[in-house]
Amino acid sequence: MPTLVWFRNDLRLHDHQPLDEALRAGQPVMPLYCFDPRQFGQTAFGFPKTGAYRAQFLLESVADLRRSLQSLGSDLVVRMGQPEDIILELVTAHSVEAVYWHEEVTAEELRVERAVEAKLAAVGCKTEVYWGATLYHPDNLPFAINRLPEVFTQFRKKVEQHSTVDLALATPAKLPSLPAVEPGTLPALVDFGLEAPTLDSRAVLTFEGGETAGLARLNHYVWEADCLKTYKQTRNDMVGADYSSKLSAWLALGCLSPRRVYETVQNYERDRIRNDSTYWLIFELLWRDYFRFICAKHGDRVFYPSGLRRLLIDWKQDWARFDAWRQGETGFPLVDANMRELAHSGFMSNRGRQNVASFLTKNLGIDWRMGAEWFESLLVDYDPCSNYGNWNYTAGVGNDARGFRYFNIPKQAKDYDPDGLYVKHWLPELTHIPAAKVHEPWKLQPVEQKRFGVTLGVDYPRPVVDLQKSVQTNEKIYNSAREIR
Ligand SMILES: Cc1cc2nc3c(=O)[nH]c(=O)nc-3n(C[C@H](O)[C@H](O)[C@H](O)COP(=O)(O)OP(=O)(O)OC[C@H]3O[C@@H](n4cnc5c(N)ncnc54)[C@H](O)[C@@H]3O)c2cc1C
Repeated sequence: MPTLVWFRNDLRLHDHQPLDEALRAGQPVMPLYCFDPRQFGQTAFGFPKTGAYRAQFLLESVADLRRSLQSLGSDLVVRMGQPEDIILELVTAHSVEAVYWHEEVTAEELRVERAVEAKLAAVGCKTEVYWGATLYHPDNLPFAINRLPEVFTQFRKKVEQHSTVDLALATPAKLPSLPAVEPGTLPALVDFGLEAPTLDSRAVLTFEGGETAGLARLNHYVWEADCLKTYKQTRNDMVGADYSSKLSAWLALGCLSPRRVYETVQNYERDRIRNDSTYWLIFELLWRDYFRFICAKHGDRVFYPSGLRRLLIDWKQDWARFDAWRQGETGFPLVDANMRELAHSGFMSNRGRQNVASFLTKNLGIDWRMGAEWFESLLVDYDPCSNYGNWNYTAGVGNDARGFRYFNIPKQAKDYDPDGLYVKHWLPELTHIPAAKVHEPWKLQPVEQKRFGVTLGVDYPRPVVDLQKSVQTNEKIYNSAREIR
């Protein structure tokens, strides 16, 4: 009587407790991945829920998982359909004794879990659910999740003082062969109505899905390129592969476990150097943990327009301006370069994400959920907790929102792209404008426009808003927001 291991956002063999426990049970093991059509529908605002970049990364990750399982003597059963139906069918047809999986915390994923549990309970099949997405296990936290501190710094300090990180589980050396079941073929992008994404040579990295590529990236960033020791100084850059770890996509799909990243950092600290940069990568992983625990604590609230803070703000759903934002046509080079990078590569730096999210909500006054859904559709590293958690923060509806805070776009541009290299990388029409002027093209006189080969309103858009006035207007709206209880 086999044990079925249902793979979800945990597409790896290292540090995989459900698989580990299934092997301990000593029964045949049936690894399964389901492509759920609900993940390939549309978002509320009508964007593809899983866009081509992430869909491709997912397909590559599942293919890699299958190869790894095969190399250890097993295989991956692949199905298209709703997990609650597929799992019930397999359980009934193959007398499966128990189903093991990693739990999730957000609404859609929990609904599926509940449906699976209900169907399996009805046929008397056992289920075991494990926690495996965070660095710190909830059992090791110094508080229950429903008592989680609302403010990140308080969370971090308590966790750093009172908690420990468990060791990552090893990759199994060998697996029992797959019970007699048709493994099934892997779908292709076209099965989801998607076209292969364009490969833009300007992208920071070619993100290849899967545990194998994820471990290779970790090895490259930490050991080969030796970048970890300067991470704190470089992490706010925007050009190139190695200013930050770029591990997010592999972490989001669980191709990498955060505990494995942690152990690699510890080994590096032991063998090469321990400094504020090595600490800072772990600090960032704590943000990731925090958003997941916050979502576990607050249920659906992170998705509500009023957010965790329960603030009813009079957001606009202005599609003309939203289109300018998402196409990178706002007339603000820092915003436009970042939005074009996202559209052409499925990635954007953390600095970029903070700026474009601030601009959308604090300058354009547009409903933050439109931005969050656009990110959901395009980001190769989309993760519901990190995405909606961060959007709550930048929109000012996060749980520790302290009044109306916004990014001054030209100042950010000058601070983080002083030579204009980043904006010119994505906006070739601005190539000939000197660095000192490239972040504020609206200030160019007609004669300068001629000299630098760019006519405003023709080659590059005029600003869609007045920065100062728009901030004042939206601050008033923010301050008149009503808190709901
Ligand atoms: C509006 C907005 C939306 C975002 N959406 C996502 C998302 O959908 N998925 C996602 O993984 N990250 C998201 N982030 C967080 C962050 O921008 C990315 O994790 C980071 O840019 C990924 O690049 P990296 O792996 O090189 O990060 P690094 O700087 O190398 O950081 C290492 C790891 O720490 C974690 N991390 C770093 N910063 C954050 C953060 N602010 N919040 C949560 N985790 C963090 C990530 O797992 C990241 O891979 C968002 C941030 C903003 C402001």
